[in-house]
Amino acid sequence: MNSNERNVVGRFAPSPSGRMHLGNILTAVMSWLSAKSAGGKWILRIEDLDPQRSKVEYARMIEDDLRWLGLEWDEGGISDKGDNGPYRQSLRGDIYAEALHRLEKTGLTYRCVCRRADILATRAPHESDGRVIYKGTCRPCRLGGHACVPDDIPAATRLYVTDDTISFTDRICGPQQVNLALHCGDFILQRADGAWAYQLAVVVDDAMMGVTEVVRGNDLLLSATQQIYLYRLLDFPVPEFAHLPLVCNSQGIRLSKRDQAMSMENMRETMTPEQILGTVACHAGLMSSPTPISLTDLMSLYKKSSM
Ligand code: GLU
Repeated sequence: MNSNERNVVGRFAPSPSGRMHLGNILTAVMSWLSAKSAGGKWILRIEDLDPQRSKVEYARMIEDDLRWLGLEWDEGGISDKGDNGPYRQSLRGDIYAEALHRLEKTGLTYRCVCRRADILATRAPHESDGRVIYKGTCRPCRLGGHACVPDDIPAATRLYVTDDTISFTDRICGPQQVNLALHCGDFILQRADGAWAYQLAVVVDDAMMGVTEVVRGNDLLLSATQQIYLYRLLDFPVPEFAHLPLVCNSQGIRLSKRDQAMSMENMRETMTPEQILGTVACHAGLMSSPTPISLTDLMSLYKKSSM
């Protein structure tokens, strides 16, 4: 993952909906290594769009766990360090409203009263959560549909996707080609209750914060194409993407905040930071066994690798 000679800006963007687990730590460490090995900046953005699930106590624990591992951020966090804040998405509504306004001007947005996807829109759509392709029930005539949602009822704002293939090369997963109309469908930008959708917020934030590389779990690989669609409509530069292999539990299922065994709460009781870094390095293929390693040695190992 070598991005020499550019002003690299990486980020870690956790949702404060629980204590971090090994999968979140893998993302944090790899995004940190990628940005810092290139002499770049690393931003900590708190993705607290979902008012029901996000808690500032969890954001504090995330910060504490990152510091315990030695991962210090150059910008962001709860205290809003840096010039591109606020770094908590819950405080960035005006910025998202302006972007939405620009998207509305393209004529590709429409009001939608379908409920379930609306509720889920603030969360990053991890693949194992299941994905339903929207059938276009509320699409208006100008976008090829038949619906007419009255102006005076609460409605979400949805973005029509054109029948085009989006291509990009992921640094880890290689060349990708996705037809959004077939694989994603029209997606939500703002929920009927006013909450902002993950897809819009993440693009606006990464662009406004000058992020040049997005390193995260590969269950968000498909989301990258929705995000590239938005980058293009908003005329923002598209960052590089690197989607990491997921960490699974003993049943082979993607780790969730409910998997206690690999939560930071448990791991910090029985393991040192070096042991956790060794486990992460082994999972990322940087070492063949999970032997303890310091962050400095891990950085040297990473620089020597072809990642
Ligand atoms: N906030 C998302 C999550 O914790 C990550 C989003 C991203 O990295 O784009 O799952």
